[in-house]
Amino acid sequence: APHREVDVHELLDSTLLMLSGKIGSRVRVVKDYDRSLPDVPAYPAELNQVWTNLIDNAVSAIGSDGGDGTLTVRTAREGDRLLVEFRDTGPGVPEEIRGRIFDPFFTTKPVGEGTGLGLDISWRIVVSKHHGSLQVESVPGDTRFQVLLPLTAPET
Ligand code: ADP
Ligand code: MG
Repeated sequence: APHREVDVHELLDSTLLMLSGKIGSRVRVVKDYDRSLPDVPAYPAELNQVWTNLIDNAVSAIGSDGGDGTLTVRTAREGDRLLVEFRDTGPGVPEEIRGRIFDPFFTTKPVGEGTGLGLDISWRIVVSKHHGSLQVESVPGDTRFQVLLPLTAPET
């Protein structure tokens, strides 16, 4: 289990800054952080990869819907876990593919644009490395990828 205590908000901010070119000016970014949340035991480089993929997917989804939209990054406490939610106003994940988006190499993007590995890798980082969970809720115009991380390191 990870032992380093990580400030998720600092990590989110640095990932958003790193992706500001990709995010561009047509996507409005709203930060809805609960800054009273404590640091969590985590692997920062791996979590950065998770944030990067979820933000990249959200921005692509918004772009595929004509261009303008909002990405909301929210943190909250959920019992003994910390929630990090990436919400976008894009077209959503169609019901018929929802069971497959976490599979390796599953992509709906054109060849050369998507590897289909982002959610597979993210799922493994969150679940296997952090003992957390990664889930999706989606209707057109409101898609939420939710990462839940334990606030304390599990006993080993
Ligand atoms: P890639 O981004 O390379 O396609 P991912 O594993 O990151 O691979 O995502 C797999 C698929 O899940 C995407 O191709 C897309 O169909 C769907 N998806 C992921 N995030 C979103 C989102 N925010 N809105 C709509 N569809 C999404
Ligand atoms: Mg992706």
